[in-house]
Amino acid sequence: MKTITEPARQLNVRAEVDVLVVGGGPSGIIAAEAAAGNGLKVMLLESRGYLGGNLTIGLPILSFLNCNGKQNVKGLAQNLIDRLKKDGNASEHKPCKLHMSLTIINSEAVKDVALDIMKEKGVEVLMYTFVADTITEGRKVKGVIIESKAGREAILAKTIIDCTGDGDVAERAGVPMSKGDSNGGMQPPTLMYNMRGVEIDKLRDAIVNHPEDFDMDTMPKEQFKEGMFITVGLRKRIKMAQAAGIKIPVARTILITGLNKDEIWVNMTRVSGVDSTLPESYTRGEIEAREQMKEINKYLKEFVPGFENAWVDKVSPFMGIRESRVMHGRYILTTDDILSNRRFDHVVAVASYPVDIHHAQGGDCTMIFTKDDYDIPYECLLPNEFDNLLVAGRCSSMSHEAMAATRVMSTCMALGEAAGRAARIALIAGVEPANVDIKILQKELRDTGAYLGE
Ligand SMILES: Cc1cc2nc3c(=O)[nH]c(=O)nc-3n(C[C@H](O)[C@H](O)[C@H](O)COP(=O)(O)OP(=O)(O)OC[C@H]3O[C@@H](n4cnc5c(N)ncnc54)[C@H](O)[C@@H]3O)c2cc1C
Repeated sequence: MKTITEPARQLNVRAEVDVLVVGGGPSGIIAAEAAAGNGLKVMLLESRGYLGGNLTIGLPILSFLNCNGKQNVKGLAQNLIDRLKKDGNASEHKPCKLHMSLTIINSEAVKDVALDIMKEKGVEVLMYTFVADTITEGRKVKGVIIESKAGREAILAKTIIDCTGDGDVAERAGVPMSKGDSNGGMQPPTLMYNMRGVEIDKLRDAIVNHPEDFDMDTMPKEQFKEGMFITVGLRKRIKMAQAAGIKIPVARTILITGLNKDEIWVNMTRVSGVDSTLPESYTRGEIEAREQMKEINKYLKEFVPGFENAWVDKVSPFMGIRESRVMHGRYILTTDDILSNRRFDHVVAVASYPVDIHHAQGGDCTMIFTKDDYDIPYECLLPNEFDNLLVAGRCSSMSHEAMAATRVMSTCMALGEAAGRAARIALIAGVEPANVDIKILQKELRDTGAYLGE
């Protein structure tokens, strides 16, 4: 590629803070909340004009409950749900054989509640600001270079928590990262959208009364009898539509009820080969997904009961990314750890969601279930190269397969909480997060309501 040299220039230092959280998705908002307190100056940077990340694209939160129906994500993540629930903006955690549990949320309310929490905790929020680079010195990431309408500036921080999903801060600082499986294949992204005017009871009745025709993956028909649900199946219906010439990019019909009685969120676009860290690739994904929507809607209206008079009400503001970079940190969580329900002395979060890999080439999905909880140790948040950088959320240190389990938003929030509390505890103790006393961190997590096992 042709290159040019950018002349060196002086940058304004916009802010100097104690803890800088980059990325205001599920891991970032909880990390900022957890880091705040004790007079620390905490800042949350977000490139979009609202907080919430993937909490705002119409997805349910999966796996607050484990495979035995017991809650294993609590703490600040549960507090967020409680606040949403107060105004009817979140559901109960409904057990689900395939997803452990689902919790439906109102995407718009999440944006407001997240901002309320930041205000109450005294976290300074800076939106419309993109982290473009880092300033490093020895084993420290001293700050980040940001780009906004105000130009190129710097923010200096004692501790930085990378919650960008793509690991932008870690990658720019030179931390080793990887993308996808051994061939670089990443789970494809999806542009979520919702449909209103859906006769949900008609769909429910079809599934309950004709389970052989509306085949659901792993989910008994009883799961659909009342309340909210996710359909993952209707494989035969897709085949019928394909035989009729309708192009469907997936093998399974994934539909999620919303908080409104006639609302369904459609999780069915899939664009293979998209790399969200390359703008031309991400752009292709958005364009192709919009084309796919037209065919999927034809399918739903003609082949799925209840959609006859439905219309598209809202398309998510951005295409959701299942997978991009993950860090190679001090410990890389593996599928073995997950499937052997491994416990770690340095546990900072507990999960039980299965390995759920949407095939990179599109079409189907592989689910590998685990029988119980597994731990995620603190070292999955720590890079080898720096002592004051933490990486939380889906870009934490996991293998390709393990990330396919830990990527759910309940777990990302639990990791965000651990990172935020570690940052604050370390600053108070006058040590770097890499050297934080893990027992103190675990005690604070437990004392404040997080679940780290019995
Ligand atoms: C289509 C799809 C379906 C899914 N289904 C479910 C589901 O049903 N339930 C479930 O629990 N999970 C689901 N997941 C997984 C889950 O949504 C993600 O893994 C999770 O949201 C990751 O959280 P995060 O905080 O790490 O990152 P994100 O949610 O991606 O948040 C990252 C934030 O950082 C900001 N950001 C990124 N880069 C920069 C930068 N350089 N500077 C400033 N800000 C930046 C972004 O704007 C964003 O707000 C799904 C994911 C996808 C894509």
